[in-house]
Amino acid sequence: MVFRFIRPDTLSVWDNHEILARFSNYKGILDGTHLARYLVAKSLECDFSPDDSLEILKKRLEEKSREFKELLDNDLDILKKREVKINSYIKLTEHIARKYLENCMFCERKCGINRTLDEKGFCMVPKDSYISSAFLHYGEEALLVPSGTIFFQGCNFGCIFCQNYDISQIWKGRRPIEEISQKVNNKSLANIAENLAQKGARNINYVGGDPIPNIHTIIGSLNYQKANTCQLWNSNFYLTNEALSLIIDLIDFWLPDFKFSSECAEKYSNAKNYFEIITRNLKRIHDEGSGEIIIRHLVLPNHVECCSKPILDHIRREVPKCVVNIMGQYRPEYHSYEYPEINRRPTPDEMEEVRHYADELGILYKPVS
Ligand code: SF4
Repeated sequence: MVFRFIRPDTLSVWDNHEILARFSNYKGILDGTHLARYLVAKSLECDFSPDDSLEILKKRLEEKSREFKELLDNDLDILKKREVKINSYIKLTEHIARKYLENCMFCERKCGINRTLDEKGFCMVPKDSYISSAFLHYGEEALLVPSGTIFFQGCNFGCIFCQNYDISQIWKGRRPIEEISQKVNNKSLANIAENLAQKGARNINYVGGDPIPNIHTIIGSLNYQKANTCQLWNSNFYLTNEALSLIIDLIDFWLPDFKFSSECAEKYSNAKNYFEIITRNLKRIHDEGSGEIIIRHLVLPNHVECCSKPILDHIRREVPKCVVNIMGQYRPEYHSYEYPEINRRPTPDEMEEVRHYADELGILYKPVS
């Protein structure tokens, strides 16, 4: 296997007992002793009518989520023998996602536009989804490599320092999304994911831009995916409670960003109530979802006191099972030059201060940072 020679830590990371304990389901999927959650969801029968009101559908979703969690307690042999249902839990979540598309509320911008009519909101993603690339990524955290990474075009954030600004935002208002990226539907996205799994991907990593505007297509593709491969959500995590309810049972591994105070998020990413929204969503995946989470904390220059330390405090207090990637990769990009306080890399002293603070709090970060 090629990755053995490129990244020896992709194997040795599992020698860490804490990593093994905190990511036991993921490791089980890699070893074939666990099923990816979406495969279990395919076998959960779910009666609903396309004519049901949104209120009825949401109630149904709550009931089925409870049933799904009970189902997960079964042994592998029992789960493997269950048949795929035509009207499955996945079909229900996709149906609701497509309803939300009519009044888009996938993320907390809540643009309220009808994307089924190709109206476009802040992210500028129409009703269809578009990807800029998909490949085996060898630069992710050790336990994720090689990661079958799918980059969606478009983002619901407007970070002035974005390192992926070519796919997230620079094209907005200049070139149509159709000209610069590849349209995907449920089937073609599933084919891409299956192809990556066949090439040895340890997970299917939905990223961008951001996957949030594409929830309907990602869920829809699960109807066609078959491989027992971990589904991984790699996102700014600014999604609504309602949108999170659609994917919380289907995702095995979470890779959310958490980098700001609310004040700084508004200034640099044009996003309101950031801290409250991210902490709300983190609490849910920690307590109700798989709980297998690496939080990516990008250290910003001059933001150790206002952002890094309060974030680490919060993680320690509220979501202690999370492992944190303390990232020193920040570099001035895009419009950073307009903000002198972040127009440089973080210094070694700033990085050391954040790591030292995490050590004092007992946060697990070294194996993934
Ligand atoms: S996903 Fe896009 S259109 Fe929908 S609410 Fe968010 S920014 Fe607006």
